[in-house]
Amino acid sequence: MSTSDTSLKSKVSPTFDVQKVRIDFPILSKTAYDKPLVYFDNAATAQKPVQVIKAIEEYYTNYNANIHRGVHYLSQRASDLYDGTRSVVQKFINAKSENEIIFTKGTTEGINLIAQTFGRQIINEGDEIILTEMEHHANIVPWQLLCEEKKATIKVIPINDKGELELEKLDALISDKTKLISLVHISNSLGTINPVKEIISKAHKHNIPVCVDGAQSVVHEEVDVQDFDCDFFVFSSHKMLGPTGVGVLYGKEKWLDSMPPYQGGGDMIKRVSFDGTTFGESPSKFEAGTPNIAGVIGLRYAVEYYNQLDRSACTNYEKDLLEYATEQISKISSVKIWGEAKEKEAVLSFTVDGVNSLDLGMYLDTQGIAVRTGQHCTEPVMDKFGINGTIRVSFMFYNTKHEIDYLLMNIVEGIKLLGA
Ligand code: PLP
Repeated sequence: MSTSDTSLKSKVSPTFDVQKVRIDFPILSKTAYDKPLVYFDNAATAQKPVQVIKAIEEYYTNYNANIHRGVHYLSQRASDLYDGTRSVVQKFINAKSENEIIFTKGTTEGINLIAQTFGRQIINEGDEIILTEMEHHANIVPWQLLCEEKKATIKVIPINDKGELELEKLDALISDKTKLISLVHISNSLGTINPVKEIISKAHKHNIPVCVDGAQSVVHEEVDVQDFDCDFFVFSSHKMLGPTGVGVLYGKEKWLDSMPPYQGGGDMIKRVSFDGTTFGESPSKFEAGTPNIAGVIGLRYAVEYYNQLDRSACTNYEKDLLEYATEQISKISSVKIWGEAKEKEAVLSFTVDGVNSLDLGMYLDTQGIAVRTGQHCTEPVMDKFGINGTIRVSFMFYNTKHEIDYLLMNIVEGIKLLGA
């Protein structure tokens, strides 16, 4: 398949040039089984621009050293880049202070950290935590572990048949026992964009703090944590062009200051003796041990990559891709789309009557197309719809309509081959 795609030019903002960005992603010009690679598994992890790849290579080639511990040149250079990333991320999500940015391993670790520190502080026997029916397992299991320990309960905001939250039920779920609401901003299996600002405002009227799982949203939307007024916001670097093994936990300073450490070790203490230990302030209090230095530096370059893009042009472009793919796939009568929220982004989940999703995913793979099949770590969503999985096509601004046409052609071929 050629990378030239004239069909895009009419509808897309003139400030967004997909061919220009594609050049930055070396993997997009590779092949799979001698077919040009078409990558539609972006919600699982995004591809990396050459700027991020080179930054990591450069760290290991030119200034690999541990941070915060050496007076020597290499350590200082590595420390400067690592520490400097905090203010780059702070500005990216418009946090008030650098101290509100904690580097983690990813969204999963961020939520576990909150559950095991803040959660353990505020949740007592009989208390309640509100989640939604569309959560990723990463925003369910850490709270279940906490609730089991504390004899607390989880309540769930249900979703309707379109995959939207039934927000009219929230009032009835909130009680004087509700101590926390934790919810996903954009669903990874349905693409639904939740009205987090509205939910946070309602929760705060009852003095309930809110944690937002932003794993899919920082990727596609400009996030302003002060505007949301969320108490916590978590995301992963690898879904937003950066390396794996790194993530960000944003927390309001007032909470971070009052929270106990998550793990103990080097770099998070003020003073240690066998009589006792005093801890550093946030963020070091939450970053015990040698961190993922190369990963954090890679994240910095991923954020800087986003910063030089026209974000709203990107978002519009991605919305245009989703709309086009939805329109085209709807022409296949045996296809059923799961997730038809009015506010939706970047994810197209579907099943085909009479065709096993895994088989179709494997057929697409033979044609060089990477999609995801299964439950996407959202088993309650699948239970709600009474299905055991979907095929998920997830978009990034480097995808093209030409790729969508190629996907559609192969879905039709696959159905012919595999259908009853
Ligand atoms: N939350 C959502 C909405 C996700 O999509 C994912 C990953 O797919 C996660 C949480 C977990 O992210 P990670 O595996 O990077 O910790």
